[in-house]
Amino acid sequence: MKCVICKHGETQQGSTTVTLEKNGSTIVFKHVPAHVCDNCGEKYVDDTVTAELLKKAQEIIKNGVEVDIREFQSAA
Ligand SMILES: [Zn+2]
Repeated sequence: MKCVICKHGETQQGSTTVTLEKNGSTIVFKHVPAHVCDNCGEKYVDDTVTAELLKKAQEIIKNGVEVDIREFQSAA
């Protein structure tokens, strides 16, 4: 798809690191699938992936973890 930030680049399949902070806890997911702009480098994460990240983060925070760094593994 076309990049909405720079309006010139095309996004390519890639990966990114997503950091979620909630209730004083910090959860970092590495190698999250994303579309990366080949011009400006802006990263787009699909809504379904974001929803999955939030769900995982909720579970981690529920266990009282303050900082957690993990590899993203899609359930799909
Ligand atoms: Zn761009």
